[in-house]
Amino acid sequence: MNEVGSVAVIGAGTMGSGIALAAAITPGGGIRAYQVDVSAEQLERARAYHDKTLTRNVDKGRMTRADADAAAARISYHESMAETADADWAVEAIVEVLDLKKKVFGEMKATFGPDTVLATNTSSISIASLGESVGDAAGRVIGMHFFNPVPVMKLVEVIRAPATSEQTTRRTLELARRMGKTPVPANDRAGFVSNRVLMPLINEAFHAWMDGVAEPEHIDEIMTLGCNFPMGPLRLADYIGLDVCVNIMNVMRDGLGSDKYAPCPKLVELVEQGRLGDKTGRGVFEHGKRRK
Ligand code: NAD
Repeated sequence: MNEVGSVAVIGAGTMGSGIALAAAITPGGGIRAYQVDVSAEQLERARAYHDKTLTRNVDKGRMTRADADAAAARISYHESMAETADADWAVEAIVEVLDLKKKVFGEMKATFGPDTVLATNTSSISIASLGESVGDAAGRVIGMHFFNPVPVMKLVEVIRAPATSEQTTRRTLELARRMGKTPVPANDRAGFVSNRVLMPLINEAFHAWMDGVAEPEHIDEIMTLGCNFPMGPLRLADYIGLDVCVNIMNVMRDGLGSDKYAPCPKLVELVEQGRLGDKTGRGVFEHGKRRK
């Protein structure tokens, strides 16, 4: 099997735009990245993020202008997945909603060739259920869970379903290492390891706020100073996206069958108000700054 030369990244939001950039700046010669989204506006945002990040890397002396230009030229933007059908490898990073992901997986199976790995960046959804949705292509389905910001974070949680083939797993591990990441295996249970441990902590911080235990800035200060966290749980929730947090909690509640994973009403309330965190300029905190 030839080395991966091109990747299709479906979804150009926080994660998809990061995965496309990480592929394009792969050490030792970047990988061609097709950035796909149903929203032209999101594609423009992704392009702006790529340009800004590459320019910052040049300004900070992390790469030459020529390398940055070459990386930018490796990324193309598409509203239609069909335009990216020759990709060697595909990963979806659309919203964390099972039915939408199944629909996209059906489209991926119909679009890409029989050797293309069909990976998902899901934070919590069962890989087996996504595999089952594509029938005889289930052997090519695998979880490849990147972390935000993707170009910087080293970890990739790799999740195999029972049907995932050895070849798919081997190629995914190879690709992750080639991109300069450290792949670590986790089993296919809702939330895997990272979110199974992290999200209840974030959710509990919202409960503490809702119960009046402390103001948000004090909750975060206590957790950063007391537990040596680099960032408080509420600030981190804003960074991840409050809607993403709610979706992950819902998937874990349903998948693990316990109400202990139900999203805190305070978290749900902010999402209903359109306060999604950094991406909307307002979440628990305003524009990433501490609330007055
Ligand atoms: P996001 O809301 O920022 O972006 C989702 C993108 O998907 C949007 O641009 C939307 O237009 C696009 N989209 C929706 N339906 C589509 C379709 N049918 N075809 C193409 N594009 C479509 O979400 P995100 O934070 O980037 O999360 C994406 C995935 O990554 C989710 O599964 C999430 O759980 C996972 N994840 C998120 C984080 C995080 O920190 N935000 C970390 C790891 C994994």
